[in-house]
Amino acid sequence: MDAHCHLHEYGDDEVESIMNLSMYIIAVSDNYNSSIRTVEISKRYRLVIPAVGLHPWNVGPDYKSEIAGVERLLSENDMVRILGEVGLDRKFRPHTTQYQDAVFRGFIEMARERGLALNIHAANAWIDVLNALYRNDIPLAILHWYTGPADLVKDIADRGYYITANPALAVQQRYRDVVKVAPLDIMLVESDAPYNYRGFVFHPREISATFRYIAELKGMSFDEVRKSIMENSYKFLRTLRIL
Ligand SMILES: [Zn+2]
Repeated sequence: MDAHCHLHEYGDDEVESIMNLSMYIIAVSDNYNSSIRTVEISKRYRLVIPAVGLHPWNVGPDYKSEIAGVERLLSENDMVRILGEVGLDRKFRPHTTQYQDAVFRGFIEMARERGLALNIHAANAWIDVLNALYRNDIPLAILHWYTGPADLVKDIADRGYYITANPALAVQQRYRDVVKVAPLDIMLVESDAPYNYRGFVFHPREISATFRYIAELKGMSFDEVRKSIMENSYKFLRTLRIL
């Protein structure tokens, strides 16, 4: 399973070819309009698990109408079980903190009321995000591209949350340090496609390479890593009653 992919950014033909990879894809959205497209794609492909939301990079003064749109989509499509990509970003968007806080509070509230999971972005905001999840007893969350403090990983595991690994592991030292110590049973893999990281455009086909990076970091075999992460993926989907 690709646990975090912006499938809405691809045209229909490319979506079709990605679906030929035959894996579950948690398709996150960036705003109301992309959430509509994500839901629409998920109606065509059984393996697409839609997530709707408002990315912290897209949070601005118009956030109320964006959130209202997302909430309407949730009410109209009860198969949507995940909010994402949502969260806080103190690193790349520090100037919209005030709006972001209000938006994230809104999504936490929605998750609690509707029993949804969250697919979270939290650049330089890991502690704030985790505190908000803990305070509100959110049972299920994916911490996408977790590069927060390595000593919080045990806490995250105790809460039953997941962290993801992606192809940036090949080059991002901070990420490698976290993944190296993270328990394998809280790990999922993601592409974050089609994000461009240091000139490298992510694609869901890189999931397999990501297993290899994890295996190398942890001194385990590729098959061992792949098997464990597949089990984690099924567990996540069962917890959400998607399977
Ligand atoms: Zn993303």
